[in-house]
Amino acid sequence: MLYYNLKNEKVTAGFTDAVENGISPDMGLFMPERIPQPDSGFFRRLPQMSLPEIAMEIGPLYTGDEIPMSVMRQICEEAFNFPVILRRLDDHRQVLELFHGPTAAFKDFGARFMAGCFRYFSSRDDRRRVVLVATSGDTGGAIASSFLGAEAIDIIILYPSGKVSSLQENQLTTLGGNITAIEVEGTFDNCQAMVKSALAARVAGAKVKLASANSINIARLIPQTFYYYFAIGHAGGGKVISVPSGNFGNITAAAIAWRSGLDISSLVAATNVNRTVPDYLRTGTFRPAPSVATIANAMDVGNPGNFDRLRRVFDNDYSRFSGAVSGYWFDDDTIREHIGEVYGRTGYILDPHGAVASLGLDAFLEHNRGSSGIFVATAHPAKFKGIVEPVIGREVEVPESIRGVLTGRKQSVKMKPSSAELAGYLYERYGRG
Ligand SMILES: *Cc1c(COP(=O)(O)O)cnc(C)c1O
Repeated sequence: MLYYNLKNEKVTAGFTDAVENGISPDMGLFMPERIPQPDSGFFRRLPQMSLPEIAMEIGPLYTGDEIPMSVMRQICEEAFNFPVILRRLDDHRQVLELFHGPTAAFKDFGARFMAGCFRYFSSRDDRRRVVLVATSGDTGGAIASSFLGAEAIDIIILYPSGKVSSLQENQLTTLGGNITAIEVEGTFDNCQAMVKSALAARVAGAKVKLASANSINIARLIPQTFYYYFAIGHAGGGKVISVPSGNFGNITAAAIAWRSGLDISSLVAATNVNRTVPDYLRTGTFRPAPSVATIANAMDVGNPGNFDRLRRVFDNDYSRFSGAVSGYWFDDDTIREHIGEVYGRTGYILDPHGAVASLGLDAFLEHNRGSSGIFVATAHPAKFKGIVEPVIGREVEVPESIRGVLTGRKQSVKMKPSSAELAGYLYERYGRG
């Protein structure tokens, strides 16, 4: 399988290069040259298949001969060693819970599969990989936990000081080992600029290979298709799927699974007040805007990075896109109210992101009577105790997986928001090689 660059389609790369390079500052995103079509036998067997089994059949369609089958098996078994739960709430609504991984958010799926790929690549040569990541919160934690203990791979995570939640900061700073957290006295944009310039300048010595693990890496997108096969396999076909969207990677994965032959009837792009895509669907004009802070903060994105990919899945055709995807957006008061209303009616506890997806599904079903659907819950409500508990009037139990990081000791390297300082740090640590 070849991957082409969305900004310049003549530039193609194999899976390994697409993953190791991720994206370079002047280039576009990688996209598979065609959407692989699993055979009909796969779709017949789907209702009986576990997530790792699905992953082992779909994954190789994307990696071709670049990852041997035995390695793929190991990557999938290790990456997806936690449950995916599809829960029925009533006759028309089911919830797909993607928050049972080690950091209690769906980013674990992409990060763990990508980490498995990097481990394999680094086992094939004797160069140490230094993976740089800028995070505004959840991504860094998922990457850190996925790469912890990986041989010959160092992870360096830059995060904006004082701008991530204390749980998120603990997930970045308490693991130690091959994980280094750099606390930047600046913004997420500063962190991202520092990573970009380090990658562009190829600072650090020749014995190490710098790589990036940003959110648009194709090795994070591919595994996000797997759970849509699982959901439709277990729920039956013809379902609407509502996805809480920020950078639009998760819903792009759903659209790719759909175009591969999966029986999804419609998609809902549900957002908070960062409504760039719902507005596009209504008007046909894509107008990125500065992001606005909300209680569903992992979705505070005004210029979704995966929009070009999603548009591409629908052949850059507005009428196909808007015929397949409906967009709805919700403000903080509506999200809070909905968490309370659903808890009162069913006893089910939503986090603010899952609540946006649930609202999106309700809005769709309102306009399309008789349909039924699945909404995607991307984070455990315990990660947003401060918002959820006052609304439902009771405590939310913290899952075992994230309890450990609450007590760990914080270690970080403080840094000014300066590319020169990061270059100096890397030089000091890795030399000229
Ligand atoms: C990242 C994230 C989202 C948004 O996913 P995208 O793929 O960026 O659209 C939604 N919910 C949670 C909890 C997240 O961490």
